[in-house]
Amino acid sequence: MTIPTRMNFKDLQLNKPILRAIAAMDYERPTLVQEKAIPSILDKKDLIVSAQTGTGKTAAFALPILQLLFDRQDAPKKGKKIRALIVSPTRELAIQIEENFKSYAQFTNLRTALVFGGTSIEPQKELLEKGADILIATPGRLLDLHKQALVNLDFVETFVLDEADLMLDMGFIDDVKKIERLCPEKKQILLFSATMPHKVIELASSILNAPETVAVSPTSSVAKNVSQVVFYTPKPKKMELCLHLLRNTIKGNILIFRRTKFGVAKLEKTLKKNGYKVDSIHGDKPQSERQLALQKFKKGDLNILIATDVAARGIDVKDLDAVVNFDLPNVPETYVHRIGRTGRAGELGTSYSFCSADEKNYLANIQKLINTHITVEEEHPYPLDPKAKPEVHKKQGSPHRKGRKSASSKKNKKRWY
Ligand code: AMP
Repeated sequence: MTIPTRMNFKDLQLNKPILRAIAAMDYERPTLVQEKAIPSILDKKDLIVSAQTGTGKTAAFALPILQLLFDRQDAPKKGKKIRALIVSPTRELAIQIEENFKSYAQFTNLRTALVFGGTSIEPQKELLEKGADILIATPGRLLDLHKQALVNLDFVETFVLDEADLMLDMGFIDDVKKIERLCPEKKQILLFSATMPHKVIELASSILNAPETVAVSPTSSVAKNVSQVVFYTPKPKKMELCLHLLRNTIKGNILIFRRTKFGVAKLEKTLKKNGYKVDSIHGDKPQSERQLALQKFKKGDLNILIATDVAARGIDVKDLDAVVNFDLPNVPETYVHRIGRTGRAGELGTSYSFCSADEKNYLANIQKLINTHITVEEEHPYPLDPKAKPEVHKKQGSPHRKGRKSASSKKNKKRWY
């Protein structure tokens, strides 16, 4: 199939209420992933889509799903059956997907429901009792509700697996397979993933049927409107460097990434002490707090948000001026995801990365992936001695402590993201 480069939404065979919603959202033209995926989805094909967040991938599955459901939307409200199921790894993503569906469906009678863990199950039960055409869910809560016979997946026609790579990273593989089996055998499956590691391909081949594939902007491509700069600095000086840059250089809405939730909490405390309006999101925060932090950031009540990669993945925050990589990620693609959040939609953004001696390898891998040499900023008060060796982490506690964790301590292992 040849793909017209300047396609219109009208060319995608979408009906009037959906086109009206698109116009109300001020979308002028479909994005590449939408151009490529929408026709196949309307054709009822199984599909593997490799696209990262920010490419318009949510609309790429939401619009055709609504179109497919629209023709039979006249079912009485009480009798609505779930005909599209979207499974998402995190609550934040699930919430965002539902917001999108609601906007696109605003001129139809199609109804969505959203269920996710970490909050009371009662309101979600009521929601399901009311009936919905489209269910957006995180895996654990969905299985819970199914076990209690509160959700019926017997009428699912389209099953979307969003952020499949993250889903597998978070250990949801068995849940996902279980959910797939709870749906009717004959259904359309759409798998979306930012990256395509072997285990995602394996999952796809075990549940999809003769899928078509769509790949847009490989994760190695960085938006042209993001200027990137790196600061070499010793690890213990990162906090001071961060404060220095916030005082003098970085302005506006800022998203700061740290690798662990402990790091996030530490930085949050320091920035608060220094008078900054800041909040954070990580895997150990209750859902309500994470939501509140995100809302405040989106509304502009605070201008700095600190996050771990997993908590922030896929979150659509508009108008970011800067992304700070306080810690460099060890997976180079993660760097691309992170900085892809700034410089969106024609705006200019900047990414600031702090690189300590033990992160030089990470930086080398990132530069290899994006095929770019990131500009080094040498003019700052906390430079790294070029000959500095990676710091060796001294073991704490008793010298007689066993090197390995006991089985029971492993069991108590908490999430680090
Ligand atoms: P996503 O990749 O689904 O997270 O979408 C990223 C952002 O792009 C969201 O804020 C969407 O509302 C927006 N978006 C999606 N499709 C389009 C489009 N065709 N034109 C303009 N913005 C869009």
